[in-house]
Amino acid sequence: MNIKHHLDEATLVSYAAGAMSQAMALVTACHISMCPTCRERLAHSEAMGGILLENLSPADVSEDALQTLLDCIDEEPDLGAELLDCTHPNETESRTHTYDKGIPHALGDYIGGSLDNVEWKRIVPGVYFHDLPCKSERGGVSRLLRIAPGKAMLPHSHDGNELTLILQGSFSDEIGRFTVGDIADLDNEVEHQPLVDSDVDCICLIATDAPLKFSTLLGKIVQPMTGF
Ligand SMILES: [Zn+2]
Repeated sequence: MNIKHHLDEATLVSYAAGAMSQAMALVTACHISMCPTCRERLAHSEAMGGILLENLSPADVSEDALQTLLDCIDEEPDLGAELLDCTHPNETESRTHTYDKGIPHALGDYIGGSLDNVEWKRIVPGVYFHDLPCKSERGGVSRLLRIAPGKAMLPHSHDGNELTLILQGSFSDEIGRFTVGDIADLDNEVEHQPLVDSDVDCICLIATDAPLKFSTLLGKIVQPMTGF
């Protein structure tokens, strides 16, 4: 694997702080499991966070602060502990950031351990998706996308962030060429149209934190059908 496209610093810090949606955290964890460079950067971010916490001065709190906190914990709804466990950076470090048989463990837990087991839904000929049960924000998605050689996504930009991790094949867009292990970490200022340039289907793991913004009429027409 020759990874050229990495996570933004802001994405790594947000992941280290546990401040991401479950959908974004899954893609981030999967890239980290494939990328020694970002594993090292994450360890550095976490160490910096620890130093900042150690240097905070103690603040006065009210007498009932502890009871208020305990009440909040009791009221916390069950968000699906099993799903959260596999993407939480601090509690399951050893397993979250591992990679085996062509697939990150954090993703394998959702799809029976292999891309061969995935049940795909067709959007148009040559373009398929499989939704994952991870929580996203503001109408975003958490899904696998499979696109045949020579096919392109419709041109689009974003209302928020989009993370795309390549698991098989490759694509090119306005930013560059993305192969296995690369991650496209895009914000709302980028418009792009990925074109699959490998001779096998390109399979990506995608998370967005808001619906995409399609710039063509065709894109706007198919958007309700695709859930993007
Ligand atoms: Zn990386």
